[in-house]
Amino acid sequence: MRELVLATNNEHKIREISQIIKNLPIQLLTKNDFQDFPDIEETGDKLEDNAVLKARGIHTFTGFPAMADDSGLEVMALDGAPGVMSARYAGPGCSFRDNNEKLLQELKDVPADRRQAVFRCVIAICFKPDDIELAEGRVEGFITTDLRGEKGFGYDPVFYLPEYDCTFAEMDPKQKNRISHRALAVQKASEVLRERFL
Ligand code: IMP
Repeated sequence: MRELVLATNNEHKIREISQIIKNLPIQLLTKNDFQDFPDIEETGDKLEDNAVLKARGIHTFTGFPAMADDSGLEVMALDGAPGVMSARYAGPGCSFRDNNEKLLQELKDVPADRRQAVFRCVIAICFKPDDIELAEGRVEGFITTDLRGEKGFGYDPVFYLPEYDCTFAEMDPKQKNRISHRALAVQKASEVLRERFL
């Protein structure tokens, strides 16, 4: 068994990752296995930078290989915004609804065929401070003109997927978890782990 530390406090992400790598000889460790586990600030201006900052920080703290992720929504007509600012787009302490309203406002004059967007999730796995591998998952879609659907979280009600003819917030959560940017990134990360640990 090889140890791998997850640099996240999010129980949902921990469960999703455990499920995907369950057939690998890996013992997953989380912040509960350590005292004074640090909370690493996301100061990068790219998703990649934040994932690397967190993975490297947790590797340095624990001495074990560490894995971290960062996700966000990039809207082409806004030059990739909100991107790394996705969680706090409408300002500190803002709600998901505030963020969606701001996004729709910013795009109010943008026609349907120029509302392309991509959800990206980048995972960094830090084996040593200078030995870091990245895995990325992406899902392409369009931003709606109003909120649609009640499921999911974040920008799900404004992210429309043409091939499914619904937003992420209208999709069955099980299906979203199979096709999401996060699921695709975790799948790729598990291939990296398989190569490195088997
Ligand atoms: P995190 O890096 O996974 O914490 O995601 C940062 C932010 O990106 C979240 O607070 C959401 O605003 C947005 N986001 C990431 N993934 C999703 C998703 O699957 N649906 C909707 N919003 C998401």
